[in-house]
Amino acid sequence: MNKQASFFESVSRNFDKAAANTKYPKGLLEQIKTSNAIYKMNFPVKIGGKFEVIEAFRVQHSHHRLPTKGGIRYSHYVDQHEVEALAALMTYKCALVDVPFGGAKGGVKISTRKYTVEQLEKITRRYTVELVRKNFIGPGIDVPAPDYGTGPREMAWILDTYQQLKNGEIDSAACVTGKPEKTNGIKGRTEATGRGVFYGLREYLTLEDEVKALGLQTGTGGKTMVIQGLGNVGQYTGLISIEEGDIKVIGVSEIEGTIVDPNGIDIAKLIKFRAKKGSILGFPGTKTLKKREDWVSIKCDILVPAALESQIHKDNAAKIKAKIICEAANGPVTADAEAILLKKGVVILPDMYLNAGGVTVSYFEWLKNLSHIRFGRMEKRFDQNAYSNLVDMVTRLTGKTIGVKERTLLTKGADEVDLVRSGLEETMINSFHQIRANYTRKKNVTDYRTAAFITALDKVASDYLTMGIFP
Ligand code: GLU
Repeated sequence: MNKQASFFESVSRNFDKAAANTKYPKGLLEQIKTSNAIYKMNFPVKIGGKFEVIEAFRVQHSHHRLPTKGGIRYSHYVDQHEVEALAALMTYKCALVDVPFGGAKGGVKISTRKYTVEQLEKITRRYTVELVRKNFIGPGIDVPAPDYGTGPREMAWILDTYQQLKNGEIDSAACVTGKPEKTNGIKGRTEATGRGVFYGLREYLTLEDEVKALGLQTGTGGKTMVIQGLGNVGQYTGLISIEEGDIKVIGVSEIEGTIVDPNGIDIAKLIKFRAKKGSILGFPGTKTLKKREDWVSIKCDILVPAALESQIHKDNAAKIKAKIICEAANGPVTADAEAILLKKGVVILPDMYLNAGGVTVSYFEWLKNLSHIRFGRMEKRFDQNAYSNLVDMVTRLTGKTIGVKERTLLTKGADEVDLVRSGLEETMINSFHQIRANYTRKKNVTDYRTAAFITALDKVASDYLTMGIFP
C-alpha cells in the first residue's frame, strides 16, 4: 500500500485545484489558505488520583470575519494537522452558506470511552479555562460547537465555565452553540446537520439531466442508501431521509461491524437496539457482512460516510458501487480517492456544502442568544390571529366551512423549530444553486467540490479585498 494522502494534504490539494480556476493574486490565496492562529495546549487533569497531561488545540483558520466558528472534537486521532484541515473547511463552509463567521476548530486528544462523565466534565472545563485565558473564546471572538465525540452536554459545561469566569457579560450565552435547549440552545440544532444533508441531497435529485445521466429517476422516493457511522449526523440523516424522503436505508456500518437488509432498516428502532445492546449486530432482519470495511462495496444509490475523515481512500475507492456520495462527515474522501471516483462517474456532494446545516443552525442559535429572545415569540400569535380572520372571511364569503384539522393547519403561526427548519431549508437550497452556477458556467470545473470551493473562495476573497489589504 502506497502512502495515503492525509486529510490535511487533501484539503490543501482541493484548495489548489479550485484556486487554479480563479484570478486572485498569489499572496491573497496564500493568506486565505493558511491558519491565522493556532493555540496548542497541554494541561494537567487529575484522573483517578493521578495527573494526566491532556494535549489539545484550537485553530482559528480565518479572521476575515469574526467571530470564528467551529466545533470541538474529542478523539484519540486528534493532531494539529487534522484540526487545521477541519478549521479550514469551516471557513469555506461558513462562506458557502452565508454564515458571517471565520472558520475555526478545536480538538482534544482523548478517547472518550476511557473516561467517566465526571472526568470528561473536568477535562472540558479545564479546556474552556485555557481558551478563556488566551482569549480564544467569546461571542465576538471564537464560538465553539459540537463535533465528533462532543454534544450538547459538553457545550453546557463550556457555557457554565465561561459564565463563571465572565460574570455579568450580557451576551455570554452566545460564547458556544449546540447547547441543550434548556440552557440557551435552539430547537432543531441537534438534528440540523443530518437535516441539511437531506435537504442538499433532495435538491441535487431535482436536477433531471444529471440524475438521469446517473441512470436514476429524479426525487428521493425509493432510493437506496448506506450509512457509515451512526453518530448524531448519521442518525438524523437516516431518520429524516426515511421519514421525509421515503428513502430505503439498506446498510449501516459502525465500529462493531456492518449490517444489511435490502428491505430497509428501521433506523429509529436500530438506534434503540444499539443503546440497549451496545451494538448494531444482530438487529432483527439484517445480515452482518464478513468484513466491516465492506460497507464501501454495498450496491446502493447513495453512500453516506458520516463518521471520520479519509474513510474512502485510494485503496477502496474502486470498490464503490454507489452513484452518489453524500459527504455528511468532514473530509471522508481523500483527494486520491476522489480522482478515481470522478473517473468512474460518481457524483460527490462535498462536505463543505452538504454538512453545513450544523453551523447554519448554530448561527441561528448565536443570533437568538444575542437578541435574548426566542424566534417566533413576537409574531406567532399575531400571525395565527390574522390567518384565523382570513379563514373566517373566506368562510363567510363562500358559505363553506372547513374541518378542525384543516383550520389548525391553515392558521398555524410559526414556532421556533418551524422557523429554524425553514431557514435551514432556504439556506441549503440557495447555496446549492450558487455552487451549481459555478459548476455549469466554468468550463474547467467538472466536480461539485471544486465548484463549491470556488464559490467559497470568491466570498472570502471579496471580504479581504473590501478590507483594502490586498489592492
Ligand atoms: N462541527 C460542526 C461542523 O463541522 C458544527 C460547527 C458549528 O456549529 O460551529 O460543521
